[in-house]
Amino acid sequence: MSEENKEINEAPQNEETSVKQKIVTKGLSDLSPIRIVRYALIFLCVLLLIGIWFRIKPASSPSVTPKEEETAEASAEPAPLPTELTDPASVTVLVNKTHSLPADYVPANLVTPYVLSISDVIQVNELAADQLKAMVNAANESGVTLYLTSGYISYETQDDYFNDRAGMVGEAEANKVIAKAGYSEHQTGLAFDFSDNASGTATTVAFAETEAGKWLIEHAWEYGFIMRYPDGKEAVTGYSYQPWHFRYLGTDVAKAMHDIAPDLTMEEYYQVN
Ligand SMILES: [Zn+2]
Repeated sequence: MSEENKEINEAPQNEETSVKQKIVTKGLSDLSPIRIVRYALIFLCVLLLIGIWFRIKPASSPSVTPKEEETAEASAEPAPLPTELTDPASVTVLVNKTHSLPADYVPANLVTPYVLSISDVIQVNELAADQLKAMVNAANESGVTLYLTSGYISYETQDDYFNDRAGMVGEAEANKVIAKAGYSEHQTGLAFDFSDNASGTATTVAFAETEAGKWLIEHAWEYGFIMRYPDGKEAVTGYSYQPWHFRYLGTDVAKAMHDIAPDLTMEEYYQVN
């Protein structure tokens, strides 16, 4: 049998297979090249649409994504304080154990108040001078002996005070009553200590029971001053009770604070740490 006959004879047996092969061949021939180009175009279109979807999605719902980002940032670090609390020259600048002043900060407007005081060289921030004079004079005119014992204290002097105290009682104990240099409100010239005697020895809690101490508790806010470290607020201010230490914040703020509570702290009023 020749090769030709063999093929002829075998042909009918493999008819089904040939059809299948034809279909496969047809499919393959259809894939190239027009179909490949068509599939490629469809595939690219789908990619393009997915790309457009992801580009448009955040823009079409801006209120969701940035808010989430803000929340994430807020939990990472606290929001910055307003300028009225951070500008050293602001009458309401916040100085506490968390927020300090630059070592070289000296108020540009220091004046000598010439009120009844234990020293003629006490200087104060001019922003507080008029109200300080009015307050001390009002107390003394009403028969209460009130002396100013301290106003502006420089960074260097505060450093000496702290180191002296720390040398006597240890740094941890000193930290409860005296600020480290840069962390003292006295560096603003807006914080004041008072006494009821010319020797200025009233820096104890007993001052609160003196006529001068009682008068200040009742009237200081009327002149724009607050008791900065009230009794029972150690956890808020970081300082033990200091009934002799007052801070000038201006009459509006002091009145607003007093209206909420007579012993409200700056930290509570401004909701800061
Ligand atoms: Zn003080």
